[in-house]
Amino acid sequence: MSLELQSISKHFGALTALEEVSFHCTEGEFIAVVGPSGCGKSTLLRLIAGLDIPTTGLVRFHQAPVRQPGSERALVLQDRVLYPWLNLEANVAMGLELAGKPRSQARQEARDWLARLGLAGFEEYYPHQVSGGMAQRVALGQVLAVKPKLLLLDEPFGSLDALTRLGLQELLQKLWQELGFGVVMVTHDVDEALYLADRVIVLTPHPGRIMTTLPIYLSRPRNRDEAPFITLRREVLAWLGIQPREGEHRRW
Ligand code: ADP
Ligand code: MG
Repeated sequence: MSLELQSISKHFGALTALEEVSFHCTEGEFIAVVGPSGCGKSTLLRLIAGLDIPTTGLVRFHQAPVRQPGSERALVLQDRVLYPWLNLEANVAMGLELAGKPRSQARQEARDWLARLGLAGFEEYYPHQVSGGMAQRVALGQVLAVKPKLLLLDEPFGSLDALTRLGLQELLQKLWQELGFGVVMVTHDVDEALYLADRVIVLTPHPGRIMTTLPIYLSRPRNRDEAPFITLRREVLAWLGIQPREGEHRRW
């Protein structure tokens, strides 16, 4: 078991953000977490990343308690997180240099990563000169370059247009299949969750508790238009209270 959350609760003063959340992520597994805004999804990722600690409960990664950030658990956010004063190559090389790689080797690896992410030829560009989709590719390169075992994604494609988002979902799936890292991805896009994940966890409105966990047994690459996918979409939307099940009224 690579990641294990044991009865995690998180309070901010009188506010309970998360309550008794337990789940695990096996090596290389892709987990998606969906739930209404404010239900504690970002808080959950911050706890796994070690940027904050739970009020009660324990996060374990490869058995060891998580109490601080580590490069084996990399967090990618929705908003641009690139260093604006560095070009794309230097942005990707940064983590490698911080990890102690000689500069020339770090730069070479960064160029290889940019090529792999479809950004060959953009090495010298600065973050403000590229589109949001390109910036998110670089953000992925930045963290994947240091070979994390677990990728934590907080609505990483949430601010992108629909077409760009589909392209990045394909790219993420390809990298995940090739490199074998685990993923915990928070998304408000139900189709994105169903397209990519091995399991979808649905959280309740706040405080966030696990409402249900749905294993997604569809083979990859998945087809968003096929009946089993559509059935699953309807099921997740029903759990979220957005679409009633047949013969059932809205939950909330
Ligand atoms: P989500 O990502 O699902 O929208 P968040 O994890 O950002 O939700 O927030 C969950 C709840 O916890 C919200 O009510 C939010 O206001 C609260 N919260 C999050 N971080 C803090 C913080 N550092 N201090 C106080 N309250 C916080
Ligand atoms: Mg959030």
